[in-house]
Amino acid sequence: IHDNIAIADMPEGSQGEGYFATNFEKIVGLARKNSLWPLPFATSCCGIEFMATMAPHYDLARFGAERLGFTPRQCDLLMVMGTISKKMAPVVKQVYLQMAEPRWVMAVGACACSGGIFDTYSVLQGIDQVVPVDVYVPGCPPRPEAIIDGVLRIQDLVHNESLRRRNTPEYKALLNSYGIQ
Ligand code: SF4
Repeated sequence: IHDNIAIADMPEGSQGEGYFATNFEKIVGLARKNSLWPLPFATSCCGIEFMATMAPHYDLARFGAERLGFTPRQCDLLMVMGTISKKMAPVVKQVYLQMAEPRWVMAVGACACSGGIFDTYSVLQGIDQVVPVDVYVPGCPPRPEAIIDGVLRIQDLVHNESLRRRNTPEYKALLNSYGIQ
């Protein structure tokens, strides 16, 4: 570490020249947050904004999340973008169930967050009625900057999550509230 950097300015965990002390959870969190494999579940207009988010101008790849997957078992970030009809809701849940832990969920856009303008009998009023959601991105549609902001918030969650969280009674109770064992 350069002599000109004051001790107070050093990142958390640094101790003296040539040392960087951290813990295993932080290393795993760092690796996970920078290698997210999103599964884009896009049903309508918000999906178009996601395409812009992936394209070179906004370039989500800068944040290590460029490897999209369409096989739930290979993905750890479910991004639901678009209007979800009640007929489609079991499919969202099935995809979520097919993902291995640890997994995270983003609701992108007003429709996925709350049903948006479609306050009708046939539209699910938010995907959190069928799966637990970690980050909500508002907007109709959200701009790519907002989607990127959502991914950064997911990264914060991933980085700071305890490796034991998925085995806690609180997490199991959360899944149980969705009928997931
Ligand atoms: Fe379309 Fe707006 Fe719904 Fe996004 S939130 S899917 S832009 S209607």
